[in-house]
Amino acid sequence: MSVETAQGLTGSRCARCGNVAYPAASGCQRCGSTELTSLELALKGVVWAHTVQRFAPKSPPYVPPAEGFTPFAVGYVELPDGVRVEGVLESVDGEDLAGAEVVLVSTAPVPRFATSAWIEHSPRPDIGRTGAETAAKESAR
Ligand SMILES: [Zn+2]
Repeated sequence: MSVETAQGLTGSRCARCGNVAYPAASGCQRCGSTELTSLELALKGVVWAHTVQRFAPKSPPYVPPAEGFTPFAVGYVELPDGVRVEGVLESVDGEDLAGAEVVLVSTAPVPRFATSAWIEHSPRPDIGRTGAETAAKESAR
């Protein structure tokens, strides 16, 4: 599996009203304009709402891991671009996700965000670090 952490998510911004959408839209959801530009979304955001997926989603498109399904957290991450992105949320056991700051760690097959605690304890340190470092550089700009 390739590590796609350096690349972020691409959304769209309406040239008329500024509304940001993810996934990128062909027409503005707010004003209907079709004058949209591509927008690279921020790599870091805050958990806006979340829940735990306790049963395996319909497959396909869901691909259960080889070791079998285990419940995972999903939710919306509010990005500073003004859009909320739905994705899988990685955290360590017992960590409170409400309002937690998370970093994009992969984009495929679905957006996946992680807390800094998860990134520190990740069994796959190659996943997460790149995104976290890029986000750190971004916020230092
Ligand atoms: Zn618009």
